[in-house]
Amino acid sequence: MLDVLIVGAGFGGLYGLHKLRSQGLRVQVIEAAPSVGGTWWANRYPGARVDIQSLEYSYSFDDALQQQWHWSERYASQPELLRYANHVADRFDLRRDIRLDTRVIAAHFDEQASLWRVLTDRDEALSARFVVMAIGPLSSPNTPAFPGLDTFTGPVLHSAQWPHEPVDFSGRDVAVVGTGSSAVQLIPIVAEQARTLTVFQRTPAYAVPAHNGPLEPEREARIKADYPAFRARNRRMRAGFGCELTPHPLPTMQVGAEERERQFEERWAIGGFSLLGAFVDTLTDMRANDACAEFVRGKIRQIVRDPAVAEALCPTHPIGCKRLCVDTGYYATYNRPNVTLVDIGDAPIERVTPRGLVSGGREFGFDTLILATGFDAFTGPLTRIDLRGRGGLHIRDKWRGGPLNYLGLTVAGFPNLFNLVGAGSTSAFTSVIVAIEHHVDWIAGCVAWLDAHGHATIEATEAAESAWVAYGNAIAQQTVFPHCNSWYLGANIAGKPRMFMPLAGGFPAYADRCAAAAREGYAGFAIR
Ligand SMILES: Cc1cc2nc3c(=O)[nH]c(=O)nc-3n(C[C@H](O)[C@H](O)[C@H](O)COP(=O)(O)OP(=O)(O)OC[C@H]3O[C@@H](n4cnc5c(N)ncnc54)[C@H](O)[C@@H]3O)c2cc1C
Repeated sequence: MLDVLIVGAGFGGLYGLHKLRSQGLRVQVIEAAPSVGGTWWANRYPGARVDIQSLEYSYSFDDALQQQWHWSERYASQPELLRYANHVADRFDLRRDIRLDTRVIAAHFDEQASLWRVLTDRDEALSARFVVMAIGPLSSPNTPAFPGLDTFTGPVLHSAQWPHEPVDFSGRDVAVVGTGSSAVQLIPIVAEQARTLTVFQRTPAYAVPAHNGPLEPEREARIKADYPAFRARNRRMRAGFGCELTPHPLPTMQVGAEERERQFEERWAIGGFSLLGAFVDTLTDMRANDACAEFVRGKIRQIVRDPAVAEALCPTHPIGCKRLCVDTGYYATYNRPNVTLVDIGDAPIERVTPRGLVSGGREFGFDTLILATGFDAFTGPLTRIDLRGRGGLHIRDKWRGGPLNYLGLTVAGFPNLFNLVGAGSTSAFTSVIVAIEHHVDWIAGCVAWLDAHGHATIEATEAAESAWVAYGNAIAQQTVFPHCNSWYLGANIAGKPRMFMPLAGGFPAYADRCAAAAREGYAGFAIR
């Protein structure tokens, strides 16, 4: 019998194994893929890379690791991130407790024995006192049910299930469906290779330049000179990163137009998410948000030469309401003669044909189809498992109206089950590795406390769960986030209940709430 079974060997599962094993617990990781690395194993499309700088999207738990690992670029690419995950697995001798190529298909809580009974697709039955779901917020790719998709005669590639051998687009007529982060990264590269590229856009994306390049040695040296202090400063930032920049002291609209523009220009020149942090109220005040959005729309109109194409690329929803895209040459790609933008906002894809697709009654031809259509975020990976808590309650029934949870880490009725970077935590609003380390440390502390006090189970009370969900909804209402159809709301998946899933209140406040619950003897939990 295991102490802890961890599902998933991405950055969450790897750190979970290291931390819990070093506490003397018997831990086993089960991973569906043939490799560690999670997101960075699966998402191999051209241009796949982080949108948070690698010095800030990396583990902090081991100082020797963070000192010795060198990132070659400011924003690491997928191959480098995968090498990093493999390095961590070797460096901390994790592989001996990771079973690859094995999917957890069921986990049932046995109330008599106070144990989780877990079944894999290899017909193995395992039991564990605790289960940690490290299955990732974005590990369930979403393939839209376009009629006729299976009749398409050319290759159909999903950005999150990309082939492992290189794909050559030379001489091909390629179509991309979707304009979220993955599409924004891959479109400029595919456009350079393909004969023609047609982009089918439902909603335009805000994209800010990454200004990626080799990691500056002086900056690396400066941060590494006191990396723990840098990490600590980042943990005090709302998003768990970005401590080198502070927002303007005044709210957006209290600043004169010229000064506002200067601030936005400065952030545009720095690149990445820094634009959203120019002022404190960009995500909470609609007028402030619109000033920032209008600045980006102005950039689009400057970059894209055809005014009609530029207008079609200008988003009208609040900026940051959907994940901001961080790009390299995205808008300029539409100046290429071989690239066509097709706005399907008012004319959804009706069907895929053997040689193209039909939208708005018009047929478009191509020979290669790329689906950059995102994920069933947060809940998808969990609800695909036959996961049952007390009284045989299925997670799908529990979450029929949305992902109820307490602290984002636990679900009432599912004792000794912990969830990493899911709904109800700052998860996707944080540099995710910061969230992962926080969650794992909290879980490790909780398990140690239960064992020290001779308790068998811990589970969220329904009252604490309801209060937490109400708290999350109340915070979201004070922001721009409910004002667009994003994957944060489940709006990208047909039939998914609409509930704002990540916690928008900032990482420090969230971490304080988790720490307070622990300090108060796990307030909000029933302990037996
Ligand atoms: C293209 C892309 C770019 C991203 N860029 C950033 C970024 O720049 N910054 C950021 O903060 N976040 C980013 N993210 C979010 C990213 O998912 C996290 O940063 C992080 O990699 C999540 O790690 P994880 O271990 O929680 O999950 P994952 O890396 O998703 O790993 C989960 C693992 O669980 C496995 N699994 C799932 N279900 C089962 C099952 N039933 N049985 C067995 N195994 C299972 C999966 O195979 C997978 O390997 C990005 C996501 C994507 C898709």
